[in-house]
Amino acid sequence: MNAYYGIYGGQFVPETLMRALRELEDAFVQFKKNKESKRKFQYYLKNYAGRPTPLYLAENFSNYVGAQVYLKREDLLHTGAHKLNNTLGQILLAKFMGKKRIIAETGAGQHGVATATAAALLNMECVVYMGKKDMERQAPNVDRMKLLGANVVCVEKGSMTLKSAINEALRDWVKNVQTTHYLIGSAVGPYPFPEIVKYFQSVIGKEAKKQIMEQNGKLPDSVVACVGGGSNAIGIFSGFVKYKDVELIGVEAGGESLELGKHSATLTMGRPGILHGALSYLLQDEYGQVANVHSVSAGLDYPSVGPEHSYLKDNGRVKYDVCFDNEALDAFKLLSKMEGIIPALESSHAIGYVVEHKDRFKNRVVIVNLSGRGDKDLGIVKQIRG
Ligand SMILES: *Cc1c(COP(=O)(O)O)cnc(C)c1O
Repeated sequence: MNAYYGIYGGQFVPETLMRALRELEDAFVQFKKNKESKRKFQYYLKNYAGRPTPLYLAENFSNYVGAQVYLKREDLLHTGAHKLNNTLGQILLAKFMGKKRIIAETGAGQHGVATATAAALLNMECVVYMGKKDMERQAPNVDRMKLLGANVVCVEKGSMTLKSAINEALRDWVKNVQTTHYLIGSAVGPYPFPEIVKYFQSVIGKEAKKQIMEQNGKLPDSVVACVGGGSNAIGIFSGFVKYKDVELIGVEAGGESLELGKHSATLTMGRPGILHGALSYLLQDEYGQVANVHSVSAGLDYPSVGPEHSYLKDNGRVKYDVCFDNEALDAFKLLSKMEGIIPALESSHAIGYVVEHKDRFKNRVVIVNLSGRGDKDLGIVKQIRG
């Protein structure tokens, strides 16, 4: 397989991990061909996680924006977001490889919870690395992970946030690669991770395409998804990317403003650079140091992005734009009131983008990927908006 998307992607890792990546790639090829593995994945998606998730025509919201807006309800998936598709898939893949132990890193804690959940279900030892600062900010998710049986390791080095947690997880993987699978939580990291994560998240796009054909009789005009690392977006886009008439829009966190350090709009404001083993757009300061990022939604707070998105930006197939904190907060309240659906602040960026650009969506059929539910965000919204 080709490890690159155009010039992006690749495997920028220590030599000791090259073998592990090759082993992972080989296993992934076998896993995809293996009927029993596929059957198991389908089984857990349906009976444990609650797939297929509905595609819901949000009538009140549609009337408000003057378009026909369908919501792909990943918020209804077990644990409240799309992340479980990937963690279930990768833990089944790890078992298929004979691994006994799962490690992951988490910033906001959402990926850690999804990993601990699937590890509990499938009886895997689970270690989650988390920066000390993040552990303080996201205490309820730490409690959840512990309840689910995960060992949460507090990282007190460096920035004490996601960046240092990733470094510690990589160090663990180098040391324990024989027994351990490193479960990456978004469509990022060295090849083949972006491909693996897309494969497990592509169920969103497959379902959405089938559902829109049943409900609307034809493909949508546009598909909109928020982009952090890019896994929910690449998952839903994968169902539509070959239909050139379907417009694909990825929405990044514009944060407070597009000044350096105040947003996490990687594709909009970054330039190519290497982080976490891959070449992709990256937010950097004038010296090439990874920039600080900010977003009201912790799940979008990531300075890089999956390499395939960089490719899709350069070749123009996907349009990337931003939604600012304020617009996302407005959308959070609007959808809650109008539809009785509290969207995750991450997903609120996709909703907010449609609201802000309602003129260009007039009379069009739009699918928005509602990547998660927003109950987890009530505290932060209250803190900002009162
Ligand atoms: C983690 C998260 C995201 C961002 O991750 P992607 O890999 O870009 O999908 C978006 N929405 C929700 C609800 C999340 O939990």
